[in-house]
Amino acid sequence: TTANANLFSRLFDGLDDPNRLVIEQLNGSRITYGDLIARAGQMANVLVSRGVKPGDRVAAQTEKSVSGLVLYLATVRAGGVYLPLNTAYTLNELEYFITDAEPTVVVCDPSKLEGIKTIAAKVGAKVETLDSSGKGSLTEAADKANKDFATVARGNDDLAAILYTSGTTGRSKGAMLSHDNLASNSYSLVDYWRFTDKDVLIHALPIYHTHGLFVASNVTLFARASMIFLPKFDPDLILKLMPRATVLMGVPTFYTRLLQNPGLNKEATSHMRLFISGSAPLLADTHREWSARTGHAVLERYGMTETNMNTSNPYDGDRVPGAVGHPLPSVSVRVTEPDTGKVLPPETIGMIEVKGPNVFKGYWRMPEKTKSEFRDDGFFITGDLGKIDDKGYVHILGRGKDLVISGGFNVYPKEIESEIDAMPGVIESAVIGVPHADFGEGVTAVLVCNKGADVSESSVLQALDGRLAKFKMPKRVFVVDELPRNAMGKVQKNILRDRYKDIYTKA
Ligand code: ATP
Ligand code: MG
Repeated sequence: TTANANLFSRLFDGLDDPNRLVIEQLNGSRITYGDLIARAGQMANVLVSRGVKPGDRVAAQTEKSVSGLVLYLATVRAGGVYLPLNTAYTLNELEYFITDAEPTVVVCDPSKLEGIKTIAAKVGAKVETLDSSGKGSLTEAADKANKDFATVARGNDDLAAILYTSGTTGRSKGAMLSHDNLASNSYSLVDYWRFTDKDVLIHALPIYHTHGLFVASNVTLFARASMIFLPKFDPDLILKLMPRATVLMGVPTFYTRLLQNPGLNKEATSHMRLFISGSAPLLADTHREWSARTGHAVLERYGMTETNMNTSNPYDGDRVPGAVGHPLPSVSVRVTEPDTGKVLPPETIGMIEVKGPNVFKGYWRMPEKTKSEFRDDGFFITGDLGKIDDKGYVHILGRGKDLVISGGFNVYPKEIESEIDAMPGVIESAVIGVPHADFGEGVTAVLVCNKGADVSESSVLQALDGRLAKFKMPKRVFVVDELPRNAMGKVQKNILRDRYKDIYTKA
């Protein structure tokens, strides 16, 4: 077709009421859809004046702000490729991403300006600043620029963004996402989660990651809903906002932290219609406790940087604790034998594979890696292990890289973690495989418990005895203060494996 497939056009063409509220901030500022579009026009004009042409990257490491969101929309509108960078990255890490991505413009916090200038010079990129309040050289220029901007026409498969994966299992890879990847996924989520223009989303996620940038923001914009923009996660504040909001999107720690507030109850959440969790597994216990306290069943979904969202628990019908739900419309999910690629029947554990308009175009500048992660029939090999149950619900059982093979048997860490997590006094656990002279790998549990809880290696082993097959039993159990996490809050098992690598081999 000749229609413009640019995500920006698909988001905003046909807007009926420019005075409709889109973003509300804690300082009381209210931004309308009309304002947002005008600001994106101004910023798109600035980007073009700095040399951004269709297909050029605009890299941004900025604190969360409305201007940060405008920068994303403006880049897409100008036909550029938006490349957000985690705010936790140091200059050393940024050097890798910026030289890898070769952006035309880099936007950074003023505190990093000097360091970024040196890095940007290596790839000939222009540098602009944007601080946490949305001020900086970028917005100064935008304030003076023309609001009108003709959205650059793009095709379905043209790139709209490159997002680096979270780096939980190794070095982050740049996932190339097209205009259609983003638009089609957002449309189907609006439908699936019943978003309307009456919705008010509590937006407390960062906007450098799929979750906060695409799932939260795009879904809100497509639905003509509004969002309350929080600079960061703040459980007490979120609880206070619930009486005038309708949806919360969070990672599992949002829910565990909110549960610590005694004020969380049915009354406090009565105005809310939907609580969504993703990015990491939501413990079945958390799911049940949340239901008991609030009367709302958290809706868990499963996605990744490379594929946007793959599955979601149903809006109506059972939201099953520990399951990530059904494939979204037009998304196919299957489970295969990792080595052969043979498709496995229901209830059998294997590799999760995904196909659909949501699946990315490949890893940036890694053609070999891209090739090895796709099957010939177009399915993407996610790297996650799981199964599809008899009722069609998908279950994620951890990463392929985290599978433990002990004495020739496959041990799925999640199975053991679920047992340990359910023990009184235990907050969370991570089960890993560590080199073992006799078994190849020894099952090893690392856990965190409540202060003063009476949990020890022997009490855990005793409690597991008889509940798990012998080959699944941890050989050692370690109680620690906290588990290592990456910037997205995900447990880094590679760090744990490294920490305990000698325990079974050293005399
Ligand atoms: P990297 O690919 O760099 O190692 P990453 O996989 O953590 O990092 P993301 O794309 O942010 O980077 O995360 C996607 C992964 O998060 C999925 O592959 C899956 O392992 C996990 N995940 C997301 N949602 C869920 C969920 N609801 N339950 C269990 N795991 C989930
Ligand atoms: Mg990954």
